[in-house]
Amino acid sequence: MRSLLGMTLTEADLSPPERACFELAWEALREGSLPVGAVVVDGAGRTVAAGRNRIHENHAPAPQLANNLLAHAEVNALVQLSPALRYPDHQLISTLEPCILCVGATSMATVGRLTFVGSDPYGGAAGGILPTPHTDHVPVEFSGPRADSFGLLAAGLHMAFFLRRKPSSHVMSVHRQLRPDLAEAGEALVGAGLFDLAAGGVTWSAAVGRLLSVV
Ligand SMILES: [Zn+2]
Repeated sequence: MRSLLGMTLTEADLSPPERACFELAWEALREGSLPVGAVVVDGAGRTVAAGRNRIHENHAPAPQLANNLLAHAEVNALVQLSPALRYPDHQLISTLEPCILCVGATSMATVGRLTFVGSDPYGGAAGGILPTPHTDHVPVEFSGPRADSFGLLAAGLHMAFFLRRKPSSHVMSVHRQLRPDLAEAGEALVGAGLFDLAAGGVTWSAAVGRLLSVV
């Protein structure tokens, strides 16, 4: 459990929305999907929607998506917002840097801010997407990643999924080239028994200390 300052981190160092995102990511991992979780909070910081990745699952509560390549955590949170309202003072928070789909979805949902915990140098699009008059009119402000062990943990969970599913994947190759520290975090999590913890029904709160200690 270390931070850049050498201080011990605990779950209490996460904001309540960040903690909710990690709990959703943990649930996704246990269900066989990519371990990514996301919530939408309003201008007062209240959570108004939550979703998680469900790509490799057959079911999702309406109107969320499952069993297709668009069933991303961020989309599954954003689809719960009403089309009758606009959300420039709302914030989407995700465990992982969002992809082009989710940055686009954030803009189209009119959510004004997007915060993420861990980097994704392969599919992440926090650098922005191709501008249009819409994105110019409804800008999205980005913040992230966290520069501490939680950032490594969030990205490492993503890496661990691919290490188990297809270690030779293009996703892994790109990470090893661009951000070997994130690939190593994933390897450390797998080595620490990440998937045994998940399969054994260990809760996120019970697992987080052990996981933080190895990334
Ligand atoms: Zn996405």
